[in-house]
Amino acid sequence: MGARKVRGGKRNKSGRTKSPAPSKKKVRVRPGLRRQVSLRLEIGRLIRGDGRLAHLLRLEKTRQGIGPDDLLFIGMHNVAQTNWCPMQAVLKSHQNEPEFFSAYLADRIRHAVDAKLVTRLPKDDDELLAIGNDLTLRMVEDLDRRREAKEERHQRALRYSVEMVLAEPAPNDHKAQGSFLERRHAEQYPTTRWNFEWQRYVVVGVPDGLTADFAYEFKTTAKRHFLPESQASAFAQADLYGYFFERPTKRVQILVREDSVIETWEEPVDRANAERVLRVVDSIQRKEVSPELPPSWKCRPCEFKAHCPLLEMPGGWRRII
Ligand code: SF4
Repeated sequence: MGARKVRGGKRNKSGRTKSPAPSKKKVRVRPGLRRQVSLRLEIGRLIRGDGRLAHLLRLEKTRQGIGPDDLLFIGMHNVAQTNWCPMQAVLKSHQNEPEFFSAYLADRIRHAVDAKLVTRLPKDDDELLAIGNDLTLRMVEDLDRRREAKEERHQRALRYSVEMVLAEPAPNDHKAQGSFLERRHAEQYPTTRWNFEWQRYVVVGVPDGLTADFAYEFKTTAKRHFLPESQASAFAQADLYGYFFERPTKRVQILVREDSVIETWEEPVDRANAERVLRVVDSIQRKEVSPELPPSWKCRPCEFKAHCPLLEMPGGWRRII
């Protein structure tokens, strides 16, 4: 790679480049803003440290009247995977629960401090877990849009990262390739990460994009042959986004890697489909139903095959896949 040219430096008599004089103009930060940032950081420290997150998660489950091993925080992305394998959707939800809880806490603290709903450190863990109770989806989206409008530096960084992505070669790793192609080909919209109550669960999600009318979901699939399967998961995910983020329409795009064609659908959000996949996860997690075993080609590469209950057989044997 060639040397990068730096503009703006003046040459002195010795021919060396002199750095431009630093600007004397002071960047003034509003004292209110400074207080908000430091309060956010101080509260953030209360959820970090050894075992803090696990302790707060147990406490929140106790407050909600459920057992420590019962699912409370689930992610829309995982729930939508019920179309691929319902058991995998539940096992993955258990595995990722600490991450969803962490996102839930971080979002509530950030938005509540910025909306001035909290102005001091919480007295105890109960007060910490109650931060953000008064936030609504509208407030959170407004806060995100206002931040984006202000954060010109963030926009510049984003543009820079997109340019870097366009210059990158596609990685060979299957999963990394999917996200690389997503960053490269997905349409760009603002978005918001937020959480919603559904029955006794807290459902966390961040769509690939949100406009006033639609929730956007972008996926990739290796072969055209897999398109119906990918479409079912992508539709379920977009239906969940539309259902919770209150958008009437879903816009779904799937890039088929073998022929580099992007398929696009724009349809009304199917609220019944969103509720169906949520109910599937709920009924398996409550052990009310045992889902059917999917075809073995789905189990063979599955990360949960060593301890998947669907592969257990009488006498401690495991099903051969
Ligand atoms: S091993 Fe098979 S049945 Fe079990 S979670 Fe994985 S894909 Fe589903």
